[in-house]
Amino acid sequence: MSWLAKYLTPDEFCDSIYDIDPYRLAGQGWKVVYLDIDNTLLPFGAERPTLKCQQWVMELRGAGLFPLILSNNRYPSRVEQVAQVFDIPAVCWALKPFPWALRAVQAEFGLRGKPSVLIGDQVLTDVILGKTQGFYTILVKPIRLDNKPSKALQFQFEQMLLRFFGVTQPAH
Ligand SMILES: [Mg+2]
Repeated sequence: MSWLAKYLTPDEFCDSIYDIDPYRLAGQGWKVVYLDIDNTLLPFGAERPTLKCQQWVMELRGAGLFPLILSNNRYPSRVEQVAQVFDIPAVCWALKPFPWALRAVQAEFGLRGKPSVLIGDQVLTDVILGKTQGFYTILVKPIRLDNKPSKALQFQFEQMLLRFFGVTQPAH
């Protein structure tokens, strides 16, 4: 595997967040969970997380993990609205895969160096950030792409990249 493939390969592939058991993550010793919003927790444009999604985030907290949102969405109102429902901290316009916003929020909450998980749906933003930071990185399938042509195109491109670098999704 080339050095580049290492940064494109998530530690785990999941169909959705609901395949991720918060208690399993806690049992493995992880402490912090960085969450993407768009197409990971909610589809693009959806204003309120479903009850099921809220319960899953509550379970993260119940398991003793520290969840927070790290979103590249540029609209603070949307990100804050979602974060308020979950009652967890949130960073918008995070510029993933660059680590600047991550560093700021790590400093604010004393998270630097704590064993961390990053969950997102995009390779070029979420996975690269997670892998370059040494986080346990979980790639979920985008919730829906039919309402956002640019993201559908990016998804196709990312899939092509993964194939090119020989990154394969293990069967499970
Ligand atoms: Mg996303």
